[in-house]
Amino acid sequence: MDRHDVLVIGGSAAGIVAATTTKAFYPDKSVLLVRKEHSVMVPCGIPYVFGTLEGCGQNQIPDAAVTGAGVELQETEITSIDLESKVCTTNDGRELGFDKLVLATGSTPKEPTWLPGAKLANVYVIPKDREYLELLLGRLPGMTDVVVIGRDSSASKSPMSCPVRGRTSRLSRRSRTFSVWRSTRSSRCGRRRSSATGASR
Ligand SMILES: Cc1cc2nc3c(=O)[nH]c(=O)nc-3n(C[C@H](O)[C@H](O)[C@H](O)COP(=O)(O)OP(=O)(O)OC[C@H]3O[C@@H](n4cnc5c(N)ncnc54)[C@H](O)[C@@H]3O)c2cc1C
Repeated sequence: MDRHDVLVIGGSAAGIVAATTTKAFYPDKSVLLVRKEHSVMVPCGIPYVFGTLEGCGQNQIPDAAVTGAGVELQETEITSIDLESKVCTTNDGRELGFDKLVLATGSTPKEPTWLPGAKLANVYVIPKDREYLELLLGRLPGMTDVVVIGRDSSASKSPMSCPVRGRTSRLSRRSRTFSVWRSTRSSRCGRRRSSATGASR
């Protein structure tokens, strides 16, 4: 069985910092980071893969950030943890032993099941999942109108509010403000915002 001093589950912001910081302070300890996805997206860059970046490939955290710090990296999903024997099991049936365990398993979007129509075709959430986002990107060319529901800082710079080329994007939130952006193929994100039309209160 593979055994490490420190096992970190999760390969995004929290997991990377936990693993590399551990290695920086305890260089003699063996640190293993496991994550279930092949490549990790830069979360705050996700909105831009729909416009100013050319897809997800330009928005990934390089593995060198982990391996260059002396942390071992494995792509696998942890399916169970046995704290007594200090062993995790992976979805491919392997066992990974640890002395210390860090859970950095993050978050996934909550689908609004209370919202009628949320299960209809072409209704999406925005996860930090490259495969899902690429699927959504692939479907965008066939769409002409895009509506974003919710408006925190992520949504307001988000795919549909900001850089969806050549499409009409609407951004909606619970308050009475409802904004419409009419984007053009040549305009950049900031210019689109300043040329917003139809904002009302
Ligand atoms: C569109 C968008 C824009 C954002 N913009 C910003 C921003 O501008 N600034 C900002 O500060 N924050 C931003 N955020 C928030 C930011 O994404 C989160 O704060 C950050 O990703 C949290 O990092 P995390 O490592 O805790 O979790 P996550 O990023 O959710 O990572 C969890 C990791 O755990 C792995 N994992 C989970 N379960 C398992 C398992 N069983 N086995 C193996 N691996 C597992 C996942 O594969 C993933 O690698 C944004 C988020 C989104 C969605």
